[in-house]
Amino acid sequence: MEKKYIDFINEDHLHSLIRDTKEDKEAIRAIFAKSKAKEPLTLSECAQLLAIESEDMKQELFETARELKRAIYGNRIVLFAPLYIGNHCINDCKYCGFRRSLRTAVRKTLSDQELINEVINLENIGHKRLILVYGEHPMYSPEFIAHTVRLCYQTKVGNGEIRRVNINAAPQEIEGYKIIKEAGIGTYQVFQETYHRETYARVHPKNTHKGDYMWRLHAMDRAFEGGIDDMGIGALFGLYDWRFEVLGLVAHAIHLKETYGVGPHTISFPRIQPAHGMDMDLPWRVTDEQFKMLVAILRLSVPYTGLIMTARESSEVRNDVIDFGVSQIDAGTKLEIGGYQKEEYEQQLDKEQFRIGDTRDLDEVIRWLLTREYIPSFCTSCYRLGRTGEHFMEFAIPGFIGNFCTPNAIITLSEYLEDYSSEETKKVGYALIEKEVAKMPEGDRKELVKKRIELVKQGKRDLYF
Ligand code: SAM
Ligand code: SF4
Repeated sequence: MEKKYIDFINEDHLHSLIRDTKEDKEAIRAIFAKSKAKEPLTLSECAQLLAIESEDMKQELFETARELKRAIYGNRIVLFAPLYIGNHCINDCKYCGFRRSLRTAVRKTLSDQELINEVINLENIGHKRLILVYGEHPMYSPEFIAHTVRLCYQTKVGNGEIRRVNINAAPQEIEGYKIIKEAGIGTYQVFQETYHRETYARVHPKNTHKGDYMWRLHAMDRAFEGGIDDMGIGALFGLYDWRFEVLGLVAHAIHLKETYGVGPHTISFPRIQPAHGMDMDLPWRVTDEQFKMLVAILRLSVPYTGLIMTARESSEVRNDVIDFGVSQIDAGTKLEIGGYQKEEYEQQLDKEQFRIGDTRDLDEVIRWLLTREYIPSFCTSCYRLGRTGEHFMEFAIPGFIGNFCTPNAIITLSEYLEDYSSEETKKVGYALIEKEVAKMPEGDRKELVKKRIELVKQGKRDLYF
């Protein structure tokens, strides 16, 4: 059955691209020009960017990524929170604090009531978008996953509600995807971890489900057949050469676009963090400089794919890298299962998957974004109006951001400022909103946005374009 899918990772080709491509300033500048026209890059163009060594080219790369990000996404950053549902796991991934051979890991799956309590706590601080995370275990069947997604949507408190539930769960059969899709998920995320087969085999033992590289590589092909057109791919950086993983991600994106007409909605690029019982050499650890480059190169390579930078990274790194192409971040993140119900929270690694780097709460993260002149967005409009997959691509056109995304970001931000924010954040928030509205061209849309901000202040909610 697997044979019907294409093996789109040609390792020899990727290795030769890395080995044989040398920095060529003229070629690189031509690629920058192509990027500015918002065209996706080929694998060899991406390899040319990965070959950049000189300081001046690096700076031009960052500048181009910054420009492209502004042109496509404006100054919005979408915010979400991860919610860990359970850490039972039949796999034995060497880097993960949930792996089955770790006898000292404290195992837990949220009961329905505990899940509801977690969601209430997340809503009470202002979250509207979640990603549910599961270990791989027969307990976490497609029916169970669908049930947890529905519970999140059903749980509402005050003005709080979850408007979009994404999931990060193990690869499924096509039938399983249909069941999950039915529950109304947003993005289905699964990371290949590493596209390099030998490394993959080393960190994912053969006698485990996850040991099957091709089963995982084709997770998105099956998801598409199961009706899911909103997909998130990713690689765990630090397992193998970062340049190879970038090429792997881009090859994956090209494959999805060519085969199904829809590229991935998001790409994640977690860097490996210390985890409970983790004992492995990491000769391929990615430096901060390389991390910044990989984000910028992904930005140029897949202009319309959202890039997610998680709280694995420290607040300093997030501050340094956010300009170069990131469109989504998590905030106020707690990884412990049941962690959002705790007043005092300090990481205990035997209960969590890995150590996080950015421990600020949601309000602090929002204030930081506002002071950097980013509009924190809780917008879920496209997903709710069916602007996903192929349809999303049609909408990601000039004018769309100004007419839809920015207004929606402003209105969801004003909801946050009214319902959940600290006084300090509220002040900075409304100051930025005023500036943003002033920037909008005169016309009906601008008047409507002003009117809707007033309506939000009067207590109306969930007004979107
Ligand atoms: N069990 C499912 C799976 O493996 O696909 C669900 C996801 S797992 C809980 C989420 C992701 O966390 C993994 O895909 C992996 O990339 C990442 N992860 C695991 N251990 C990590 C670590 N030590 N540091 C950073 N990220 C890690
Ligand atoms: Fe299980 Fe996922 Fe952790 Fe691997 S990464 S041990 S599959 S939870």
